[in-house]
Amino acid sequence: MEFIGDFHTHTCASTHAYSTVSENAKWASEHGIKYLAITDHSIEMEDAPHLWHFYNLRILPDELFGVRLIRGIEANIKDEKGTIDIYEDGLYHCLHWINVSMHYPIMMPSSRKNHTLAYLNVLQNPHVDVICHSESEQYDYDFDLVAKECANQGKLIEINAERLRRGGKAKTRYEYILEACEKYGTGVVVNSDAHFYTAIGAFDSAKQLLTETGFPEKLIFNIDENRILNYLRNKHGNIF
Ligand SMILES: [Zn+2]
Ligand SMILES: [Zn+2]
Repeated sequence: MEFIGDFHTHTCASTHAYSTVSENAKWASEHGIKYLAITDHSIEMEDAPHLWHFYNLRILPDELFGVRLIRGIEANIKDEKGTIDIYEDGLYHCLHWINVSMHYPIMMPSSRKNHTLAYLNVLQNPHVDVICHSESEQYDYDFDLVAKECANQGKLIEINAERLRRGGKAKTRYEYILEACEKYGTGVVVNSDAHFYTAIGAFDSAKQLLTETGFPEKLIFNIDENRILNYLRNKHGNIF
């Protein structure tokens, strides 16, 4: 199982992250990562860059150090209606990768029912690609319902390598999430959520979990170049 993409990474444009696009891409190129999504926090996060950061991602080269750069964002899920903090249609056209996450205090933890509704509704947004770090216990939800809807909509659930590496209950919660994903044929993507370049592609924790659980490789998005290219081209045309 060789991972060739990392679809959740931050740069110093989010001020609690500390590396540049160039540092990230160089490290990626040296560690077998050929597809790198740059997904800084959307505008309602305290440390988010200005809106112009996202519009201007188009000036980045398509490829740097042999790594394909994918213009992305980590948007905030705000409520049970699945509202996210992307308010201008024009912005969707500048972005090729949209991660969505629940972050405190933008989405206040409430009930399992509300978190489930929020995920089910955000999955109806045609632009959204991945539900990120959803193992968080404070945002508990119905894994079965959400994994099933994710499969229906052809979207992905993230296995966040950093959360797994930190320990705690992440591993157990991801085991349940993977069980639901396998049951419904939901695709997963392993990401670093890197806030410093050395974390990019550091997927050992996730690889171990996927191996231990015998999770089917055909459902792992970022180990197969054709899977990545087909997904991106179906959604955006020939972007590279
Ligand atoms: Zn996040
Ligand atoms: Zn993140």
